[in-house]
Amino acid sequence: MPLDSMTLYFVAALIAALLGAMLLSFGTQENNPALKWWGAAYLVGAASVACWTSAGQLLGDVPFALLNSAGFIACGMVWTAARVFHGRRPSFPGLVLGAVAWIAMTVMLDPHAEAMRMTIGAFIVAVYAALTAAELWAERRRSLKRRWPAIVVPVLHGFVLLLPVLLGSFLQSTDDQFASSIWVTIFAVELVLYAIGTVFVIFMLVSERTVTAHKKAASTDPLTGMLNRRGFAEACARAIEREAKAERPVTVMIFDIDHFKAINDRFGHATGDEILRLFSTVVVDNLRISDLSGRVGGEEFAALLPCSLEEGVLVAERVREAFANSGVVLDDAPVETTVSIGVAGGSAGIELEVLLASADAALYQAKRSGRNRVEAAVELPLSLEKLRRNTGILAASKPGVTPA
Ligand code: GH3
Ligand code: MG
Ligand code: MG
Repeated sequence: MPLDSMTLYFVAALIAALLGAMLLSFGTQENNPALKWWGAAYLVGAASVACWTSAGQLLGDVPFALLNSAGFIACGMVWTAARVFHGRRPSFPGLVLGAVAWIAMTVMLDPHAEAMRMTIGAFIVAVYAALTAAELWAERRRSLKRRWPAIVVPVLHGFVLLLPVLLGSFLQSTDDQFASSIWVTIFAVELVLYAIGTVFVIFMLVSERTVTAHKKAASTDPLTGMLNRRGFAEACARAIEREAKAERPVTVMIFDIDHFKAINDRFGHATGDEILRLFSTVVVDNLRISDLSGRVGGEEFAALLPCSLEEGVLVAERVREAFANSGVVLDDAPVETTVSIGVAGGSAGIELEVLLASADAALYQAKRSGRNRVEAAVELPLSLEKLRRNTGILAASKPGVTPA
């Protein structure tokens, strides 16, 4: 089937322009700078191909080279979009380098060596495609599960462009033959496929990112930035399973700030929030990176440590002391900031609910014994059922101690 290459390029430009407008408007709506870069790249690329197709023959060598260089800037912008998408800054020298190299080549080369110029052009585009793929590849560990199309699409694009160079047919054919060669048609078809494929990849990346952001928001406490009850429970379930496999003990602790209501009543809710943030920093600073912690209620926090009960008690004591010595001064007077902590530890494979309920019971004991203290659960019930029967603690899961 004979295909008119100019018409093909024109269609490619039209499709790219439409996709560019769509990406740009979506990027503006979502306030996503990477999408705006991608959209603008498509528009610049489309304009360059359209001008080149419709008026290329009429232009002199230098304006023609300048027109082509806009296409290379578009490739640089696609690469920039991938950088921006991962929170990196645009590299302006990198963005224009391909275009500058192209203009320099045009000035230096014999104007009739069209095949040579096309080879160099294909090479520049392939380098940008490789850079874009590398950018997405370097980030694969963050969230890449099904991200292979993000790498395969630009790599294929670069490969198709370099195919004639690899096969050597460019350099053998005469320049007159080149204009009507099969490669011109292949490039045009590939351009359309690449433009559509890349948009598919962009939407896949953006939606993956949105899902991750929503998941994170659903498991994070906005005030302290810690895990919330749900996030903490999910992370604990994974950690307990992992520790059980390794036959290592785990320890759980529940922290409840003492007389917190009084702080709110005296200094206001906003100050109360500040104290909650302060406490979360104390907890995080005194735990190791392998420990889990979260805000599981208003002024209640919890932690899970892969260690024995004895070690856990030492950590709890450290947190208690650090919070008591945090030196909060409000209205020119020191404020007593203390916390009561219940700790429960169990051998590998113990249920999280059993640990939490035991730690809760120990916390109740700490409150009853005068607050600002760490209390360890002496004996763990063998099962949740037994615990329920013995204490009814889960039915009234809050310590419910009135301020002394
Ligand atoms: P206890 O020593 O027995 O633990 O006394 P308490 O006052 O800390 O306990 P109580 O359960 O009576 O009060 C908890 C208070 O925590 C009541 C509630 O207004 C406050 N609170 C819960 N969530 C927040 C929050 O997000 N911000 C602020 N500022 N206060 C909160
Ligand atoms: Mg409480
Ligand atoms: Mg409290």
